[in-house]
Amino acid sequence: MKTTRRAAPPKESRRSEVWRHAAPSRTPPPRRQAAAVSNAEIADMFNTLADLLDVEGANPFRVRAYRNAARTIAGLPQSVADMLAEGGDLSELPGIGKDLAGKIAEIVRTGRLGLLEETKARTPGSLIELLSLPSLGPRRVEALHNSLGISSVAELAAALEAGRLDGLRGFGPKLRERLRQEVARHKGSERRFKLATAEQIAAPLLSYLRDLPGVRHAIIAGSYRRRKETVGDIDIIVTGDRRAKITDRFTAYEGVEEIIAHGPTRASVRLRSGLQADLRFLPEASFGAGLLYFTGSKAHNIALRRIALERGLKINEYGVFRGDRRIAGRSEPEIYALLDLPYIEPELREDRGEIEAGHAQALPNLVRLDQIRGDLHVHTLASDGRLSIAEMAEAARRRGYAYLAISDHTHSLTVARGLDARRLAAQMDEIDRINDRQPGITLLKSAEVDILEDGSLDLPDEVLRRLDLTVCSIHSGFHLSREKQTTRILRAMDNPCFTILGHPTGRLIGLREPYALDLERILRAALERGCVLEVNAQPDRLDLDDGACRLAKEIGVKLAISTDAHDAGQLDLMRFGVDQARRGWVEAADVLNTRDLPSLRALLRRT
Ligand SMILES: [Zn+2]
Ligand SMILES: [Zn+2]
Repeated sequence: MKTTRRAAPPKESRRSEVWRHAAPSRTPPPRRQAAAVSNAEIADMFNTLADLLDVEGANPFRVRAYRNAARTIAGLPQSVADMLAEGGDLSELPGIGKDLAGKIAEIVRTGRLGLLEETKARTPGSLIELLSLPSLGPRRVEALHNSLGISSVAELAAALEAGRLDGLRGFGPKLRERLRQEVARHKGSERRFKLATAEQIAAPLLSYLRDLPGVRHAIIAGSYRRRKETVGDIDIIVTGDRRAKITDRFTAYEGVEEIIAHGPTRASVRLRSGLQADLRFLPEASFGAGLLYFTGSKAHNIALRRIALERGLKINEYGVFRGDRRIAGRSEPEIYALLDLPYIEPELREDRGEIEAGHAQALPNLVRLDQIRGDLHVHTLASDGRLSIAEMAEAARRRGYAYLAISDHTHSLTVARGLDARRLAAQMDEIDRINDRQPGITLLKSAEVDILEDGSLDLPDEVLRRLDLTVCSIHSGFHLSREKQTTRILRAMDNPCFTILGHPTGRLIGLREPYALDLERILRAALERGCVLEVNAQPDRLDLDDGACRLAKEIGVKLAISTDAHDAGQLDLMRFGVDQARRGWVEAADVLNTRDLPSLRALLRRT
C-alpha cells in the first residue's frame, strides 16, 4: 500500500492481519517519569525567588531581573525544555543572560533551582505563605514583620482580629478589609496541584508505604482517585498490622517537610512540594468503607447515606451498620450491593446522575486505557517534537499501538517550525517509505493545521486532501469575541479536510482560561459534519475537560483521545486523557482511537 488518500480509502489490505495482531497489549503501568518542566513552573520558581530576595532586601536590579525572566518565559509559545532539548541557546531570549540561561537549564535538568532552595531554607515557611496573599508584596510583608513581628497568615489573622493593624502606616481600612477577606479565603483554598504533578509527588510516597513491612493495602482515595484534573491534597488509606506503627513510618518519610498531626491511626503531613498528605490506618474489615468514604465526593457520599437511611442502615468510614452491628465494610462492591447498586467507578462519583443510572442498571461502561489502539496527535523533529518519525513509530509500536498519526505543525506556527506544503509533501513521502518497510505499526499522515483567524485552514486543500486526517487547532487570536471565535471554528469545520478539532477550548489549567466559545453549537455542527473533537491529554490542557466530554457524548460527537506527544515518554500521558473522558461518562464506542485501523479509516471519511 503506497499512499492512503482520504478520497479513495483502500480496501482492507493484506496488512490488516498484522494490525489485528497488534492489538494493544496490557502494558505494565508506565514508569512515572518526571514530566518535562513547564514554562509556567519555571516562571513560578523565578517569581518566588524574586519575592524572597525582595523580602531579604536584595539588590532591586537582581530582583527585577528574575521577575522579567519569569514574564519572558511564561509568555513563550514554545517550552524552554523543548528548546534546550533541540540545542537552542536560551541566552538569546530577551532579558535572559548567561547566568539566567544556566539557571533555567538547571531547572529543566533537575526539576529544581539550588538558589531558590537555599533562599527558601533561610526564609521561614510561614513568610512564603504570607507572600501568597494577593495584597501582600514583599514590602508589606517586611513592614508587618518589622513593626508587628507578624510572620505567618495565622499571626496576621490574629492581629487583624485584635485591631493591631489599625493605625499602622500603609495599612489603611480598605487594605485591612481586603486582607481580612484574603486571610479567610486562604483558609478555605489551599493550593491545588495538577493531577499529573500530584501523581509525580504521590507515587514514590505510595511505593514507600507499600514496601513497609506490615502494610497490606495502601491506596490513595479522594479527588486523586476520582481523577479530578487538580487535587488539593491526598488522602491515603492503609490497612495492615497494627503493630507496624504505620503512621510513625509515614511521618518519617524523607519527603515530609512538616508534620501537621500525628496519632496512632491518622497523621497529616505537608510534603516538600507543598502538597498535604493525610493518612488513615483502618482495620481490614473497614477497608472498603474507608475507601468509599474518603474517595467521595461529598455529594456522592451524602446520596449514599440517604439511601442507607431509607433502608434503616447507617454508613460511615468504618462500615455499614444495622443498629450496632457492622454488616459490611470490607469492600466497596459489597457496600454498593447492600444499597441495591452496582459498583460505581470512582470517576463517576460526583452525584451527577450516577446513582440514578446505577439503580436503572444504566451506568456507562467506561473507556479503558487498554482499549486505546493508537495516538492521533504527535509531533516529530519536523516541527517542535524531539524524535524522528521512525523513533516515534517505534515507541508507539512498543506500546502495542496499531497506528500513529504524525501531526506536525503547519507553517503559520513559525515558532514551532511549522511545515509548508513542500515540507509536508516530503514528510508524506517519508511516511510512505517507512510504512513500506512494515514497521509493525501503520503511520497515518496528518498535520496539526492552524485554524487562521478567518476560519480558513493554513494549507491549501489539495495538500490537505493527501492526508489521512487533520488535527485543526487554534494557536493565536485567543481573544476574539464568543461569536467570532465560534464562527471561526464552524467555518473551519466546513472544510471537508477538517477531521479533529485539537485542544478545542485552548485552556491551560491555572494559566489560561478557555477562549470564549459556544461549545454546544460547535458540538452540534461537528455532529452534522462528521467532525471529531479532541481530548488532549497534556496535563496542563486536559481539553476537552470532563464536563465537555459528557456534553459531547450526549450530543453524539465522537472524541479522539490524543497525547500531543513531543517525545516518546509523553505517549504515556494517554491515561490522563482517558481519565477525563471516563469522568465524562465516555465509553469505548465514543472514542475514535479505540477502533481498529479499517474502522478508523471508515470513520475518518467525511464524504
Ligand atoms: Zn496545538
Ligand atoms: Zn500539537
